[in-house]
Amino acid sequence: MNAVQLIEAKKNGIEHSETEIQAIVDAAAGGSLMEDYQLSAWLMAVCWRGMSTAETNALALAMARSGERVDLTGLLKPWVDKHSTGGVGDKTTLILLPLLAACGLTVVKMSGRGLGITGGTIDKLEAIPGFQTALSLENLKTQAGEIGLALTGQTPRLAPADGRLYALRDVTATVDSIPLIAASVMSKKIAGGAEFLSLDLKCGSGAFMKNLVEAEALAAACISIGEHAGLCVGVEITDMDQPLGEAVGNLIEVQEAVLCLMGRGPERLREFIVELAASTLVLARQVTWQEAEQEARRALESGAALEKARQWWRAQGATLTPEESLNLPLAPVQFEMSLPEEGWITELNARVIGQVALDLGAGRRAKCDAIDPTVGIRLHASVSDYHAPNEVWATVYARTQTDAENAAKSLSQAIQLSENHLPRPRTVLKRLMPS
Ligand code: URA
Repeated sequence: MNAVQLIEAKKNGIEHSETEIQAIVDAAAGGSLMEDYQLSAWLMAVCWRGMSTAETNALALAMARSGERVDLTGLLKPWVDKHSTGGVGDKTTLILLPLLAACGLTVVKMSGRGLGITGGTIDKLEAIPGFQTALSLENLKTQAGEIGLALTGQTPRLAPADGRLYALRDVTATVDSIPLIAASVMSKKIAGGAEFLSLDLKCGSGAFMKNLVEAEALAAACISIGEHAGLCVGVEITDMDQPLGEAVGNLIEVQEAVLCLMGRGPERLREFIVELAASTLVLARQVTWQEAEQEARRALESGAALEKARQWWRAQGATLTPEESLNLPLAPVQFEMSLPEEGWITELNARVIGQVALDLGAGRRAKCDAIDPTVGIRLHASVSDYHAPNEVWATVYARTQTDAENAAKSLSQAIQLSENHLPRPRTVLKRLMPS
């Protein structure tokens, strides 16, 4: 089939064969069968027509094969990876990676930059002076052997077909397709070489998946791809209607992550991290939930995870320790948000808060935009808390007074109060473990 026939077939809802999928992926990885505009048309057809499970699996595996696969042979087992589908205030990786390594797992991870309103781990780590986010695959493995964890930004050596397709999706409104997201995420995870993947699948206003039905469909697609690739996947579907933790931005999130490693910061964030770590330990070690939870809590509370973070930061070039990063200044203009009314908080809209953070300069509108690591938002309350009249519920950190005032105007749309008390929403909405 030529390019036009492939697009035509998908436009008409006809299932592709494995050979056809391979041809499309070969084109995306640099072959000559399809130009950018033809790949874009095909992506749009997939958004409308969807893909069968067989097609989605074939797409992910072909994309994973489009580059190298990290060979972790020789490193202490189990080899684990962690992935979040992206949210607002999501600093999980900064805490979970050293915590898992402190529990004796080998963690090798490739992370991305911020995407739309969702923050990116690489942008957050680059708020740490000296922190190197571009390791070669060879150095990635060496470091993981030495200290049990290593993280790098995306490299064209792994799943290059995803690099091209993702760039096209980003500018053709074709990101929000379950088969395309599943194949994109899982191709990179398969290429990363781990045996176990802990997938934090965000669900809510600040995530790609807006409700539990969509999130479960994405989870099922990722688990199925994992089964075909020999990668054991555990999924937590987690709340992203409100941001995770109190801090949204880059440096401000690094500082909250450090506080969490020091046993401080928001208790809900610490409990969430312990839960994610426990489920990863159950997945990779087949221990009971109780044993896993105890081990994760011990590693966090004893300071072992913080010590592992110190080693990690040093190994990747940071010129200060995690504790010293708490003294780095945030943006100079602070604006406190309050409401004259009282009531129970029923909403802190993650999408609105993420957009305000992006507008302040914490994220990018265009690929080439520089981000400002020091701007952001600190929330002083969460959903289900009581808001007294004129109490400060958020602080904006901005470069200028004008930026702060514009941010405050938009941010005021994020909060809803009610006379009725809502129970505290759960952070983990659903856990799907392999049987
Ligand atoms: N993250 C990815 O890596 N790919 C997607 O398609 C969406 C989120």
